[in-house]
Amino acid sequence: MLFFRSPPPSPDACPVCGGTEFDLRPVLGTELIAAWQLSSEEAGYINRQQGHLCLACRANLRTRTLAAALTEHFGFSGTLKAFCASRRARALRLLELNEAGALSPWLSTLRRHTLARYPEVDMQALPYTDGRWDVVLHSDVLEHVADPLLALRECRRVLAPGGVLLYTIPIVHGRLSHGRQGLSPSYHGAPGGEQADMLVHTEYGADFWLQPVAAGFRKIGLFTLGGPEAIAVVCEK
Ligand SMILES: [Zn+2]
Repeated sequence: MLFFRSPPPSPDACPVCGGTEFDLRPVLGTELIAAWQLSSEEAGYINRQQGHLCLACRANLRTRTLAAALTEHFGFSGTLKAFCASRRARALRLLELNEAGALSPWLSTLRRHTLARYPEVDMQALPYTDGRWDVVLHSDVLEHVADPLLALRECRRVLAPGGVLLYTIPIVHGRLSHGRQGLSPSYHGAPGGEQADMLVHTEYGADFWLQPVAAGFRKIGLFTLGGPEAIAVVCEK
């Protein structure tokens, strides 16, 4: 992974709120680094992905990437905050599956937005009719779902033709994806917080794109703010 030895340049402005001050607060403990067998380079980019924060809105690099992917998809050049006040965004039927971090307060201002949380709503059996949504969005949720392919198929099913799914997952790019079945349980979140919904079922690697292909999406792309830590998957129905 020689291309990614150095961190990408800091963005000029936060794509969520327009803030210009950032700070890095590493999130990985030694336990998780050991459980995932991460190199220091891999731990570095995951720390930036999850812990490089906009000091104004607290959006980390992961959710800033997702926000920029969303506005870019609709050809909007401003922040998510401005996008959510636009006529275009206000017409969108948008389903957010679990809070997408600092994006959630802005998305919630949309008239036709719904936030569906686990376990009330199961991603593997979404309680919506076919074609119900224009946008489906989730951020670091898929790795916690027992059958992620089924979840992606459900996301596709509830999208209208031409609709878009945007999501992030933690990806260790130098290896292939594997399930954690048979391995010791691994959890995201604060050390000691071993809630079942934080249990990791899949550790994604370089072949992560095969899942949305298998789920039947017509067009699959990557949106990036630079580096392996700032990638959003954009899937069109
Ligand atoms: Zn911000």
